[in-house]
Amino acid sequence: MPSFQTSPGTRDILPPQAGRWRAFSAVFADVVESAGYECVIPPMFEELGVFLRLGDATDVVTKEMYDFEDKGGRHIALRPEHTAGICRAFAQHRPATPWKVWYSGSNFRYEKAQAGRYRQFDQVGIEVLGASDPLLDVEVIALGWQFFAALGLRSVELMVNSLGDPGDRTAYIDALRTYLTSRSSELSDEARVTLDRNPLRVLDSKRPQDATVIAGAPTIDAYLSNEAKEHFSTVIAGLDALGIPYRVNTGLVRGLDYYQRTVFEYVATALDNAQTAVGGGGRYDGLVEDLGGPETAGVGFALGVDRTLLACDSEEVFLAESPAVDVFVVDVVNGMSALTLCDTIRAAGYVADRAFDGRSMKSQMKSADRCGARLAVIVGADEAEAGTCTVRNLSTSEQTVVQQSDLIQHLALVLGERQPRRNTQ
Ligand code: AMP
Repeated sequence: MPSFQTSPGTRDILPPQAGRWRAFSAVFADVVESAGYECVIPPMFEELGVFLRLGDATDVVTKEMYDFEDKGGRHIALRPEHTAGICRAFAQHRPATPWKVWYSGSNFRYEKAQAGRYRQFDQVGIEVLGASDPLLDVEVIALGWQFFAALGLRSVELMVNSLGDPGDRTAYIDALRTYLTSRSSELSDEARVTLDRNPLRVLDSKRPQDATVIAGAPTIDAYLSNEAKEHFSTVIAGLDALGIPYRVNTGLVRGLDYYQRTVFEYVATALDNAQTAVGGGGRYDGLVEDLGGPETAGVGFALGVDRTLLACDSEEVFLAESPAVDVFVVDVVNGMSALTLCDTIRAAGYVADRAFDGRSMKSQMKSADRCGARLAVIVGADEAEAGTCTVRNLSTSEQTVVQQSDLIQHLALVLGERQPRRNTQ
C-alpha cells in the first residue's frame, strides 16, 4: 500500500495545536470587532488577474503563484494573500464606506519551505476601504499592536515608513537604481539580478556582502511630497498620542507593489530564525481602481498566524491547551444512561465525555482521569434501577449519590452555573 505524507511546505495542525489556532482567531475577532470591523470570507481562488497587481516584479507573482487552468479554460490562482481579493469584492459589491472588515484564512505561495515559511500559511488581517485619514492608519496599526498584547507577547517591535505617493516612489526608484547600478560590482549576484527587476527589493537583502552598499543608498524620505510628509507626520503624532513605541525605518519597503504612503511591519524579536516579521501592512489607495472599482482609499495589515504562534512559543505565552472536560460519565450497564446523561449535561452548558465499546469500569475510570475531568458520574446496575447516579470528585475521591433528575442542579452547586451552549438550544 502506498504511504502518503504532507506535501512540502504544508503541515497537519493536530490537537491541541488546532484548538490554539481557533482561539487565536477568536482573540483577533474580539480585538478588531471592538473597533467596528466585521468578518469577510472571500474565495480561496480567483482569476489570476486579480493577483497580478501585487507587482509583476515581486516574487509572489513571478515565482510563487499556485495557478492553473480550470476545466472551463479560466486562468485561476490560489490566493497568495487576502487584500487583492477583498478589493475585488469591494469593486464587485460596492458596500457603504468606510468598509471595515477582518478575515482569517489560508494563503498559498510556492516558497522554499523552512521554519516560519510555508507554502500554505494562515493570516488574520483587517482592511478598511473608502477613507484616507492618516488617523485611520493609526487605528489600523494600533489594532495589530493591541492584538499582540492580547496574546501576551512582549517582544514585538513596530517599524514604520512612508513610501510617498506613486510619483515620489517612481522618482525614488530611479535614484536608487542609478546609485545601485553605480556600485553593482560590489553587490552579490542575487542582488544584481534583483536590481534588474526591482531596485526596491535590493534593500531587503540580508546578505552581508550587500550591507555596505545598502547603508549608503539614498532613502525615500528625501523624495516625499509635502502631502505625503504631512500624512506621515500625523501618523507619527497619532502613535505618540497612543503611547505606541515605533521605529521609523526608511529602508522598510514591503514585498508587494501596491503600497503607498504609510507602510509598517511588526517584528518579533524573540524569534531567532530569519523569519522574524510576524505581520505588516500599509496604505494601498490605487488598488480598488486597478481592479475595476471606483477611486477608493485603502489601508490594512496581515499577520502571519504560523509565525506569531512561533513567537508565542518563544515567549511561552498563549500556549496550546486541551479543552477542559467537566464531567466524564461512566456507564457499566449498556451505555444508554451515558448517552442520555451526556446529552442532558451538555445541553446545560457543561463539557461531558464518555467511553464507548462496553469497556470495564476500571478502563472507563482511567479514561476519566486521562481527560482531566473534574467529576465522574457513575451509573452501575443499582443506580440504573433506582434512577440515581454516583458523582465522584476525581481530585478528592469524595462521592455523592444523587437522583439523575437532580444531576444538573447538583453540578451547578459543585461546578458553578453554566450558560447553555448556543448549538444545543
Ligand atoms: P505579506 O503578505 O508577505 O506582507 O506577509 C505578512 C505576514 O504573513 C508576514 O509577516 C508573515 O508573518 C506571514 N507570511 C508571509 N508569507 C509566509 C509564509 N510563506 N509562511 C508563513 N508565514 C508567512
